[in-house]
Amino acid sequence: MAHALGAPAAPAILRNAELDADAVRQARIDLAACFRMAARLGLHEGICNHFSFVVPGRDDLFLVNPYGWAFSEITASRLLVCDFHGNVIAGEGVPEATAFFIHARVHLNKPRAKAAFHTHMPNATALAMLEGPPLVWAGQSALKFYGRTLVDEEYGGLALDEKEGDRIAASIGDADIVFMKNHGVMVVGGSIAEAWDDLYYLERAAEVQRMAMATGRTLKPVPPELAARTYAQMREGDRDSARLHLDSIKRILSREEPEFMH
Ligand SMILES: [Zn+2]
Repeated sequence: MAHALGAPAAPAILRNAELDADAVRQARIDLAACFRMAARLGLHEGICNHFSFVVPGRDDLFLVNPYGWAFSEITASRLLVCDFHGNVIAGEGVPEATAFFIHARVHLNKPRAKAAFHTHMPNATALAMLEGPPLVWAGQSALKFYGRTLVDEEYGGLALDEKEGDRIAASIGDADIVFMKNHGVMVVGGSIAEAWDDLYYLERAAEVQRMAMATGRTLKPVPPELAARTYAQMREGDRDSARLHLDSIKRILSREEPEFMH
């Protein structure tokens, strides 16, 4: 199901002097925390799926998980630094091929997408397998995503070249959430905390929607004007709330599996 990217170029040493070492270290810890909590919540998929983040201060490099490791095994230092040409600049191993092809092109083509999280998390993916709009505006949690989703109807098999990533990047527009039909989801954000917060609540919104649909009864949508108003209310505090959400996760993990920070 997953493919490793072809033989990497000889790893170059990343000169720390070029980077804000504290910012990069913090980004590694934050991203590792997301992998660990995603695994705990069942949002992972074996050794597939990927979270990436543009290296602070270096728009030509991104952090991503190495192929062959489960989310629950990721630590801050195990994350790779890659460039947009397929070279591993720091770290041991290579990214999964689709991780490189999709994420590199999304970061490159959409500079606002500093973080890009791709999963096959079961509830959101189940909705991506249905005809028609995946998420409906019937639950409050869903309204966080009102007007922010894009549905990519063009499933094209595994993304093993740049075209799939380019197509996704081109279609994203202003959306932060891409439902990839027949496949999974991609969440993009300006920060790791915001991408995490969206990923988490997207799966929760999808979960309750599935439960409601499973009753066989008709869902009661929130009227568009009220949905838009509620969305605006929710988005007002979203950035702070996302930061607090990630802080909470890091506190829990530092008590219960502190090795994620290594
Ligand atoms: Zn995938």
